[in-house]
Amino acid sequence: MRAALLVPLVVAALSAQATRSTTAMNTIAERYVKLVLAVGQHDSDYVDAFYGPAEWKTEASASKVPLAEIDAGAARLIGEIGSVRPYASDELDRLRHEYLRRQLDALRARVRMLQGAKLTFDEESQALYDAVAPRHPDSYFEATLKEIDRALPGDGPLSDRYDAFRQRFVVPPDRLSRVFDRAIAECRSRTLSHVKLPADEHFTVEYVKNKPWSGYNWYQGNFRSLIQVNTDLPIYIDRAIDLACHEGYPGHHVYNALLEQHLVRDRGWIEFTIYPLFSPQSLIAEGTANYGIDVAFPGEERLGFERDVLFPLAALDPAGAPAYARVRSLVDTLAYAGNEAARRYLNGEIDRATAAAWMTRFAMSSPKAAEQRTHFFDTYRSYVINYNLGKDLVKQFVELRGGAATAPARRWDEFVKLLASPRLPSGLRN
Ligand SMILES: [Zn+2]
Repeated sequence: MRAALLVPLVVAALSAQATRSTTAMNTIAERYVKLVLAVGQHDSDYVDAFYGPAEWKTEASASKVPLAEIDAGAARLIGEIGSVRPYASDELDRLRHEYLRRQLDALRARVRMLQGAKLTFDEESQALYDAVAPRHPDSYFEATLKEIDRALPGDGPLSDRYDAFRQRFVVPPDRLSRVFDRAIAECRSRTLSHVKLPADEHFTVEYVKNKPWSGYNWYQGNFRSLIQVNTDLPIYIDRAIDLACHEGYPGHHVYNALLEQHLVRDRGWIEFTIYPLFSPQSLIAEGTANYGIDVAFPGEERLGFERDVLFPLAALDPAGAPAYARVRSLVDTLAYAGNEAARRYLNGEIDRATAAAWMTRFAMSSPKAAEQRTHFFDTYRSYVINYNLGKDLVKQFVELRGGAATAPARRWDEFVKLLASPRLPSGLRN
């Protein structure tokens, strides 16, 4: 009898402790959200999404809290997290503690930057995104450039030949929306075969101009997103799947909807109703959005769908699809060249024109796209590492857990688990 009585008592004691810990963390989470909103009053790009209580936002704009006060508040909160013990048997609860602490560290770094602190590119990416991009010498990119050179024979500079080659793959503006709509429908149905999404999830697409980015997902809560596509520059056929997957399914829209469903609604974790752009969460967001393209279209499936469905919709000759896919995958391996340009430019080693010229040579960007990219550097700075380093870290994490390209269903499972959890970039390495 005694032993039988003991078990429920222990369980009751444990759950009372868990309840206390959850209540303490929920209070900390609420203060974290208010601190992020307060930073947003000093930095208009900082709050990327917020769908928590509207009156918190009103309060934040009514009382513009000074940066020093925000910093002190964040330091106190970090100390308080240390005194709340995570619920050991719940991995998500442990991740929640680490996540909140690290997000607050990043918030403090952003506050220091707003106060005028000058960080090097690598110091900044470590402080804000919990990761540092590897360095690559020019020679690292030369081997790929030689391969592209062989694939695009002819006279004149390689970047001009690449530009001329790509002209055959521009989507005519009057066909843009039907090509995108079809790509979105395909990415959505592929995602829905593996992921249970809220029944009323939805997004709308808008075409815009004069932006430093090529596409953007504005998550609005209630499983809704607004996706904007920048049409300043010609849109090539491969952008359809890139954007549909990256911004939509299984990228940003799905990531945000799963966080809302599993963490905000199921667990009541209010900190996930806000997304501070300059924080470790961005590496996970951009990394999963980019890797999601490979998850949705394993092996040759992307080429098949583009050639058989999207090329005809865009009135492009499908015979060119395989050559374009091959050149594009070579160009994709030059993604780290963009990081090198950003690092040197932001560290003050080269000026804008040199950074643009460098990207034209090493990243195969058109001169106009390279110029647009330098403006992205001005606004978003070391954020650039989140796309390619983020993708590589997410890929490594998912595939180490058995989600290899040869096991597409398992890969979806591991990928979705990551999407619905508060894991940090440094936590992707183990
Ligand atoms: Zn993105």
